[in-house]
Amino acid sequence: MRTFEDRNTHKGLRNQLIKLLREKGITDENVLEAMTTIPRHFFLDSAFDHIAYEDRAFPIAADQTISQPYTVAYQTQLLEIKKSDKVLEIGTGSIYQTTILAEMGAWVYTIERQKKLFEEQKNYYFKRKYHNIKFFYGDGFEGLKTYAPFDKIIITAAAPFIPPKLVEQLKTGGFMVIPVDEGDAQRMMRLTKQADGSFTQQMFDQFSFVPMLTGKNQ
Ligand code: SAH
Repeated sequence: MRTFEDRNTHKGLRNQLIKLLREKGITDENVLEAMTTIPRHFFLDSAFDHIAYEDRAFPIAADQTISQPYTVAYQTQLLEIKKSDKVLEIGTGSIYQTTILAEMGAWVYTIERQKKLFEEQKNYYFKRKYHNIKFFYGDGFEGLKTYAPFDKIIITAAAPFIPPKLVEQLKTGGFMVIPVDEGDAQRMMRLTKQADGSFTQQMFDQFSFVPMLTGKNQ
């Protein structure tokens, strides 16, 4: 069950979380503002209500997770989102990261391979506020050729390698933020697409994500 009530206690806890994100080095005010606006507890079962603003990942349906707030803030900051950016997200999961991007004014195209999670968006009343989100059920390794190219691409699962089709679907000068496997953890990388189709890469901190898997799951 979910509750869609945003009480003062939730807002207070959310402000404390934002303070923590600042202390941890998040500086993009647009990211912090969106995370102040969006009630994270709306994206979790009501059993998590009192802990929804801890800086932790939590389980959601289909053995997946809602990313840790710091991870969401970190990836979104690296994307340097501008209003009206066209963004492809791989791994819709709880829809929390998706909604943060939409709140920042991006046009978001999000893909989920788990049918159960994809179907949650249909009943999810909060998303009605955001007409700038399009949901897809599919394999993120394929991307969305029909809607390409994208200004930005974000992968929210541990990628075993950099998916070549996603590089193709990125605009020249566009960024891809992707956690790439290094055994037990993943290295956050930001690729910048060059005019000749190649990319340059920058390395950031280590994180831990659920795996990016091929194909779709019923
Ligand atoms: N952004 C989400 C993160 C969810 S965890 C959130 O904050 O809630 C990662 C998600 O990626 C899972 O839901 C998983 O099913 C999905 N995923 C893994 N491999 C995928 C693929 N190849 N294509 C699309 N989604 C994928």
